[in-house]
Amino acid sequence: MAAIELEIDGEKIVKEAGVRAVDVVPVPGNALAVWVSGQTLDLNRPLAAGGNLHFLTFDDSAGRHVFRHSSAHLLAQAVKRLWPEAKLGTGPALEDGFYYDIWLPEPLTEKDLPRIEKMMRKIVAENHAIERLELSRDEAMALFRDRGESFKEEIVARIPDDAVISAYRQGDFVDLCSGPHLPRTGLIGALKLTQVSGAYWRGDEKNPMMTRIYGTSFPDQEGLDKHLAAIEEAKLRDHRKLGAQLNLFTFREEAPGFVFWYPKGQQLYRRLENFSRQLQEVRGYQEVATPWIYRSALWERSGHWDHYRDDLFLIHRDDEVQGVKPMNCPGHCLLFKSETRSYRDLPWRLAEYSPLSRYERSGALHGLMRVRGFHQDDAHLFVRPDQIREEMFGVLDLVDVVYRTFDMAYEVVLSTRPEDYMGELALWNRAEEELEEVLKARGLKYQINAGDGAFYGPKLDIYAVDSLGRRWQCATVQLDFQLPEKFELEYIDQDGQPKRPVMIHRAIMGSIERFLGILVEHYAGAFPLWLAPVQVRVLPITDNQHEYAGVVAQALREAGIRVEVDARNQKIGYKIREAQVEKVPEMLVVGGRDADSGTVSLRTREDGDVGALPLAEYVQAVAERARMH
Ligand SMILES: [Zn+2]
Ligand SMILES: [Zn+2]
Repeated sequence: MAAIELEIDGEKIVKEAGVRAVDVVPVPGNALAVWVSGQTLDLNRPLAAGGNLHFLTFDDSAGRHVFRHSSAHLLAQAVKRLWPEAKLGTGPALEDGFYYDIWLPEPLTEKDLPRIEKMMRKIVAENHAIERLELSRDEAMALFRDRGESFKEEIVARIPDDAVISAYRQGDFVDLCSGPHLPRTGLIGALKLTQVSGAYWRGDEKNPMMTRIYGTSFPDQEGLDKHLAAIEEAKLRDHRKLGAQLNLFTFREEAPGFVFWYPKGQQLYRRLENFSRQLQEVRGYQEVATPWIYRSALWERSGHWDHYRDDLFLIHRDDEVQGVKPMNCPGHCLLFKSETRSYRDLPWRLAEYSPLSRYERSGALHGLMRVRGFHQDDAHLFVRPDQIREEMFGVLDLVDVVYRTFDMAYEVVLSTRPEDYMGELALWNRAEEELEEVLKARGLKYQINAGDGAFYGPKLDIYAVDSLGRRWQCATVQLDFQLPEKFELEYIDQDGQPKRPVMIHRAIMGSIERFLGILVEHYAGAFPLWLAPVQVRVLPITDNQHEYAGVVAQALREAGIRVEVDARNQKIGYKIREAQVEKVPEMLVVGGRDADSGTVSLRTREDGDVGALPLAEYVQAVAERARMH
């Protein structure tokens, strides 16, 4: 047998070909699958070639994917035990769970779920080994025909001739599947079926209606309980509901997919935009503004006409078609081109916050999360190839500052060269190597999606993790070797020769509208002091303190604090409760004694009654606290 070299956590070992990852895993217990040479494989799969082994656990999204897909098989096995006449469709993993489409003579309902769950737990307890089988087409056809799985036969018939056909078996159950899977059913420690709906086979209404059963699963009960609690909490925090309650924004049918900001929402929006501006200015970005409507020739050149035409808002005027911009990149290329650039001018970092629009189908619109009109904290960096590394380092530093400010963790995914890449191979290799070096230098844990990059350059996707543990893809950093080609961008290099710059597209929050929606849910509407649309509310106890309340508010305004006075003729308890419901961070109760002695009685959203202090002292302290972070 040939020897192969395996690398595990930087350590190299030599084994015979055919060794299984499970035989060399350093920490057995929690490994679910293995990632090797750009592929996720079963732990039990014999390794034909050497390579770098990365063991996947439930903490890796690829590991969770394997776990949830195996849970879908478990669900199908349980349904087949309970209803032997059931015929299986397909059962993929989802971001937070899985589903399986199953045909039954009588569709199932939610009442059937507890019974299925019970059977699933029984199969978990039986702890079957999950084995991979490789089959010829005839063998696969015969196997599924014998089992009455007509939908599976249909799938087998569609598999291309040169593809390997595989199936996975666990106990009395076998499913057509390319895998990978967990080694044993016993690893699925906790599960819950959540929903039942109908779905046509292969999405076609001429086909039979299947029962789609949704569920989720975790290695242990604690993980499942936390997840279910987070879903309940997320419903309470829905940004559309809180947005209305807190008077932030509204939508109207006169302009579907476009946001109407109320003053408080606009205040929040401006705070985010200014926050981004401040950070970028000190990092050498220059803000520009470019047109938002371009003639179609521009969109043809940029490639949008071919690839995104359906997403563009088009305007027919004067016998020609113009398009409203969905992104700023082409405009920035035109700015770059408008003058001769030297190697000394690079990097050139252009930021823009202009309105953008994309035509989203009305069914896809969802509050602030998916809109037709939005703005990004967008920037394009025009760099020399030798500057990629340093610029990427700077971009990742900015990512870190932004997410830390909002108390969000984040995860990074690096997508590398696809088969149909364009540009020079040497440039790709160097760029990918440098991206990895930068990620390591910053001490970031990252995942690689091999071959998943755009054809015009490798990219980093950054997922922010909110206070409910949900992952949101916000930031993207995309290297682009192609747009500079299309726009024939050049700079004059040190040797006097024209060279192509590399373009880095990057947004940190992404759509500011969407990011605000995420923040509303992340904070449950209780924004930190620096961000809150109203930072302090002054609550006079009786009409006699109105004048003094005005003095207090004015002193705060002059210190740059956003303040309101609740001068309504209401009981103080009512005013406090209302400020609390509106999640105002600080409340100043002012009574006769305060007015006489020049003090304020402070209450905070988190700590309640804090006590009285001199007005000047409070103004200084709150201004200090409100200074960002
Ligand atoms: Zn499968
Ligand atoms: Zn761009």
